[in-house]
Amino acid sequence: MFLYNTLTQRKEIFTPHEEGKVKMYTCGPTVYHFAHIGNLRSYIMEDMLEKSLRYLGYDVTRAMNITDVGHLSSDADTGEDKMLKGARREKKTVMEIAQFYTDAFFTDCEKLGIKKPEIVVPATSCIDEFIHMVEVLLEKEYAYIAGGNVYFDTAKLPSYYVFGNMDAEDLDVGVRDSVEEDSNKKSKSDFVLWFTKSKFDDQELKWDSPWGIGYPGWHIECSGISVKYLGEYLDIHCGGIDNAFPHHTNEIAQSEAYLGHPWCKYWFHVLHLNDARGKMSKSKGDFLTVSLLEEKGYDPLVYRMFCLQSHYRKPLTFSFESLDNTAVAYKKLVQRIAALKTEGEHDEAGCEALRTKFKKSLENDVNTSLALTALYDVFKAKVSDADKLAMIKEFDEVLTLGLIAAADKLNRELEEKRSAIPEGVTAEEAAEINALIAKRTEARKAKDWGTADAIRDELAARHVVVIDTPQGISWHIEK
Ligand SMILES: [Zn+2]
Repeated sequence: MFLYNTLTQRKEIFTPHEEGKVKMYTCGPTVYHFAHIGNLRSYIMEDMLEKSLRYLGYDVTRAMNITDVGHLSSDADTGEDKMLKGARREKKTVMEIAQFYTDAFFTDCEKLGIKKPEIVVPATSCIDEFIHMVEVLLEKEYAYIAGGNVYFDTAKLPSYYVFGNMDAEDLDVGVRDSVEEDSNKKSKSDFVLWFTKSKFDDQELKWDSPWGIGYPGWHIECSGISVKYLGEYLDIHCGGIDNAFPHHTNEIAQSEAYLGHPWCKYWFHVLHLNDARGKMSKSKGDFLTVSLLEEKGYDPLVYRMFCLQSHYRKPLTFSFESLDNTAVAYKKLVQRIAALKTEGEHDEAGCEALRTKFKKSLENDVNTSLALTALYDVFKAKVSDADKLAMIKEFDEVLTLGLIAAADKLNRELEEKRSAIPEGVTAEEAAEINALIAKRTEARKAKDWGTADAIRDELAARHVVVIDTPQGISWHIEK
């Protein structure tokens, strides 16, 4: 498999630390509000990475944190705790807010076909691990205490900025709030590992520590949780590109200083979701959620398909016009699948050729738009309908667009429509006509044209109009 690695800025052959096994970490949500569809794009594409790895035969262990403390209003160390702001907004406690929005997040994920990682860890459950890590960093002199807080000393590193491709806008995030610059820091790029003093001393959640009562910084969470649950060597770390700096940069600094060796080999970053005005974000007020899409009549899986249509490393521009186009494509795709019969011989070589193309697209840096093309290729293949259905089912277990279920539902609806009694006909008459149509179908199959024609004439005499569709036969009485 080839994966683009933000660390080396190249597509590389993926070789995990332990053969066949993948340790994967994902930065989870800060649970102070609903997730917007821009964040969810990252989770959809990370889900595609995990499922691709599994489909290609890797044994994947994946962990995700839930940030329920320590994430301040800016991604740097200034501003108020996001959780506290959320709690005040809704007049609830921080833990109530955390529970509510954690549940909401996983409900959204389920609707979008995103598998829940097997390890999901709230930051507040690992405080001892964070304290231990900070102690070691102090011992190793990678950290210092100033003004009551513990800071990471970025000057101790041979190189702090590890992702070479960060643009000025991304780098700006860390210093956006530098108007209220923290005078305790030796260098602007230093960051807080543990807070005991902050301008906002009404922080609800605090713990005892060797440095006084306080709470962990946001960055230490991911390092602590990842090392605790996935060990000292991480294969893939994923996240949205806006987390590359400062969050992931700081994670690497802490983890490698703590462990004393390189930590994570591959960094998988998903690019922004934009709209006509630029990057979508909560702070800009264009707050599109899964529920809002549903209210507007969109199946969340249509949004998933919209995301899969382009590569995760390209910014994606959202508009309702483009989502409408995807909705039409999705509907047509489901109709084509619904029209496939469940019969036919099995052709292993034919199926393997389709499978190879699908695999190749995933192996090529999770190229989901090519994977969709490979799915469409199934219809053109010279294999039986039964094989086509089996291949679509197999591919959709990775793509998770709910195609087979949607096609079954469509067929059930059509069946109900067919078996419904048309207007102006009694139940007995309908049963008679259905029986005649069934008899005609039998006769046609047996090439008994005489009987088939006689039935056709009888139906015509009763003013019955029979319509053949790919999904079967429907009829009504001509007025
Ligand atoms: Zn993280």
